[in-house]
Formats: sequence, C-alpha cells, structure tokens
Amino acid sequence: AEQFVARVAAARSLNAFITETPEHALAAADAADKARAAGTLAPLSGVPIGMKDLFCTAGVRSTAASAMLGDFVPPYESTVSAKLWAAGAGMLGKLNLDQFAMGSSNETSALGDVVSPWRRNDGGNAALTPGGSSGGSAAAVSARLCPAATGTDTGGSIRQPAAFTGISGIKPTYGRCSRWGIVAFASSLDQAGAMARDVRDCALMLHAMSGFDPKDATSLDLPVPDWEAALSADLRGKRIGIPREYRVDDMPAEIDALWRQGAAWLKDAGAEVVDVSLPHTRYALPAYYIVAPAEASSNLARYDGVRYGLRDLPEGAGLQDMYAATRAAGFGAEVKRRILIGTYVLSAGFYDAYYTQAQKIRTLIARDFEQAWASCDLLLTPTAPSAAFALGERSADPIAMYLNDVFTVPSSLAGLPAMSVPGGLDGQGLPLGLQLIGRPLDEQGVLNAGLAIE
Ligand code: GLN
Repeated sequence: AEQFVARVAAARSLNAFITETPEHALAAADAADKARAAGTLAPLSGVPIGMKDLFCTAGVRSTAASAMLGDFVPPYESTVSAKLWAAGAGMLGKLNLDQFAMGSSNETSALGDVVSPWRRNDGGNAALTPGGSSGGSAAAVSARLCPAATGTDTGGSIRQPAAFTGISGIKPTYGRCSRWGIVAFASSLDQAGAMARDVRDCALMLHAMSGFDPKDATSLDLPVPDWEAALSADLRGKRIGIPREYRVDDMPAEIDALWRQGAAWLKDAGAEVVDVSLPHTRYALPAYYIVAPAEASSNLARYDGVRYGLRDLPEGAGLQDMYAATRAAGFGAEVKRRILIGTYVLSAGFYDAYYTQAQKIRTLIARDFEQAWASCDLLLTPTAPSAAFALGERSADPIAMYLNDVFTVPSSLAGLPAMSVPGGLDGQGLPLGLQLIGRPLDEQGVLNAGLAIE
C-alpha cells in the first residue's frame, strides 16, 4: 500500500486522480495485517484500489468531474464501494473521468484531461487519451498506480478505456452491481464494473462489487457465482460468434487482423468459431445517443442549486434566475449538449419521432442478440474501431467522438455482460482490445474466453 501511495504521488502529471486518500489505503493495509494474524483475511484484504469519482464515498469529496458537484462531500457510501471495503480493500483515491461519465476521451472533465501513460513509437511525443469515460481508472491501472480500479459503463466506458490502455475491464450483466450511490447518467444503461491488469483480478474484484441491493429497484436478486474459482481457458464445446455487421466499412486493417487473430486464439483454446448476424447493429449508435441523453436530461434535473453542489445566486435574482445561472456555470459543454438533445427528444412534439423509435430499436437490438444465442455462446468483436487518439484530436467533433462507441453500445442497450481484454499492439506500439459479449448472466463465459485470449 505504501508503494502504491508513493507511485500515485509521483505520477500526478497523468492527472488520473482527482482526490488522493492515502490514509484510507494505509488503514486497510493495517487492518489486513491484523486480519492475517487473526486468520480472518477477506478476499481483497489490504488491496489498495482506485475509485472512479462517480461513486459517492462517505466523507470524501465526490465530484463526477463536474463543477456542479465540485465540493460535494456525500454523507453516504455507494453500495459498490461499501462492498469493496467490506471485502478488505482500501482506497488510494478518487479517479478522474469524463464529466458525469459523458464522453469517450476523458476530455469533458472539469478537472482537466487525463494523460495516457502510453506514447506512439513514431518519435513524436503526442499526449494520448486514455479513453473514457473511465479514463482515470484506465490510466491509473495501466501506469501501475493501483492494481485495480472501479469503472462504470453506460455505453462502453469501462471497455473502451481498457482497450486504449492495454488492461482488462468487465461490465457485468445489467443489475449485477447496485447503482445506489453512483451519480446517475442513464439509469437503464449504467453499470459498475472492474478494471484490472488481468482477467483473474477482474473476476475477484467484480465478485466483491456484485450482489443484490434492495436500495436499487433494478438490482438482480440472484446468487453471485465464484467466477475466479471457476476460471478456465479450456473452451472446448463453446461456440464463438463473429457478428458480420461489426465489420464496418472503414475499419483499419490492423483492427481486422486483430479480430482474426482473436478468433484463432479462441479456436486454439478449443472453441468453434461461427459466423453470426446481428442485423440491426447499425441502428444501435443513433438509438443510444437518443436514449442516453433522454435519461441524462431527466437525471440531471436534480442539479438545481438548491439541494447540493454549486449554487450561483446573482444579486437580486429570483429562483428561475438561480436555476439558470447555476446550471450555466456548473455544467460543461458536452453535458449541456446531452441535456438539450435529451429534452428535445422527450418533448411532446418529438417524443414519438425520436424517443419511441429509439426504444423500438433497442428492442430489436436485444432480439438480434437473443437470436444469435441460438447459434453461439459468446460473441467476439474488436472493442473500438481505432487505437487511442491524441488529446485534442476529436474533442471539437462530437460525432467523431460518438463513433468511437460503435462496438460497445449494442451490448449496453441489451444489458449483456461484456469485457475488453488486451489483444496486442498496433504498428505504432499502441494497445488494441478485443471484446467478448456474453448471454445474460454469463460473466463466467466472458471471463473464461478472456483468459484464453490473455
Ligand atoms: N462514450 C459514451 C458516452 O459518451 C459512453 C459513456 C459511458 O459509458 N459512460 O455516452
């Protein structure tokens, strides 16, 4: 724990942490020493982890990387973080992210960009994005500032940053991890998950985070299997589907080669590789960018300057003026864009044309997956259509940014477990990720195939 505390302090130039809490990590290490002596070690005793700053942590500033929550100190603990502490883990600090988890590059944070520890081997020294929105988590694990970190994934925010930084990250089935105490973005999509150096650590960490919580109405009341104990890279009898619609037009040759290589590795592990079709795939991204902003516009209505966080009360202003001034000052540009889109697609005149249509597409996407499960057990795809891009390269073009989510969004709309594992390096020495998507509740299948690739 002391070593990780020192590494965090020595790597501040990455801007991965918003708040450092060394005392929390060191206290957990002390408790682990006592537990060892008493023979009562818990699964994560003494492990110092990083916590995405979207999780509320009691008595520790929780910002969602927004000026709106800048000095918010929650009086309560999120269920997921409470479970991690109960499993013995300690917290090194709160990790940077895209503001309210909206973004794919960590550049929408009000607390500054996170810098990836990776560089292209082209002689230039361009600072790269670690991906987003869990960019702080990805950079911290990749730079070995912590052995594992929490993430949240609404449309890819665990998997894409994991791919960009050469680590592993799993988003479980929707409902496995409680959303209670996680700052809400799009409630029907938001899921917590684990980011770590390898598949085994992801399995251990996710197990500690999962389980029924009566405080979250969508929490699954099901036993949590011991995924780590059942890890196996023997894939005999498994059928892996390659969805042909994911072969998008302008896919770089390197991504295509990585995908073929991934299929070959799974074959070597005993799996049968089959072609499958997910015919509505191309509608997933537009549907996501209607559903997610719609839910965000509703969730973010609570930031009114009255109850918590920022309050901007101009001289002589009335209540409406205070709302307007607070929201103008507190939200960043991307968050405002989402609120505007979301409010528009939910408005009386446009609801059927946009929101209802998007919900129908969501059903069709879920059905595509259900039909695919008749011919395969798991799906293999690239995690993202490119390797990490440079900071600043796409931040002025929201559509280019959204396109990065093309492979991660469909499984989010369907609530399926999905994981990114490192697949290798591109020609510039940057990591590329492979994505495994499983049937509902089949985290085990996803982890096992991840282990076979790793
Ligand atoms: N990049 C996607 C978005 O901006 C996903 C974000 C997430 O999963 N939190 O909405």
